[in-house]
Amino acid sequence: HQIRYNRKIAIMGYPCVGKSSITLRFINGNFPDAYDTTIEDRHDKTYKWKGRDYSLRITDTAGQQEFTIFPRSCSVDVDGFILVYAIDDRKSFEIIQTIHDKIVECVGDMNVPVVVVGNKLDLQYACRAVSREEGEALARKWNASFVEISARDLERQQVQAAAPVRPRVTPDGNVPNE
Ligand code: GDP
Ligand code: MG
Repeated sequence: HQIRYNRKIAIMGYPCVGKSSITLRFINGNFPDAYDTTIEDRHDKTYKWKGRDYSLRITDTAGQQEFTIFPRSCSVDVDGFILVYAIDDRKSFEIIQTIHDKIVECVGDMNVPVVVVGNKLDLQYACRAVSREEGEALARKWNASFVEISARDLERQQVQAAAPVRPRVTPDGNVPNE
């Protein structure tokens, strides 16, 4: 029978960026209605990826403010980190840089596995505040993976992915209604 690989992952970021929504969507397959933003929770899931069986333990942290220290989530007992920001919240993007500094400091390894996630992609036309390029550049700097997602609306995300990237502006400078 097959080997099962154990992996412990911590999901971190500013409060309200969607850490719990992403986690619960992954664990249960649906978008949660309301979730206490102050709760820190662990979830276990077995997951098959590229033919391998994984036992995942995901620690959904309560979120980090600018100068919050997180000794537990930042322990050496974590194999990798998911750093989430919301694309409509500039501050949340700045915070993951502080969090990353602290992780490197705590773990003592520049090459700690990190995935940078820009969430709330469904809001990209209404109120994007962080460009995809900025997210990509930050991830590149850390040798991290990067993805923009919406925990809320996967169908709409796919439709929007096919939509023009630039806002449409008519020659007289007006932005036509969507
Ligand atoms: P956390 O504090 O980082 O765990 O964030 P939550 O998962 O509790 O989500 C905070 C708020 O953002 C809630 O009102 C969610 O419904 C909302 N939210 C989460 N993900 C998305 C998303 O992809 N798009 C939008 N529009 N809202 C989201
Ligand atoms: Mg939460």
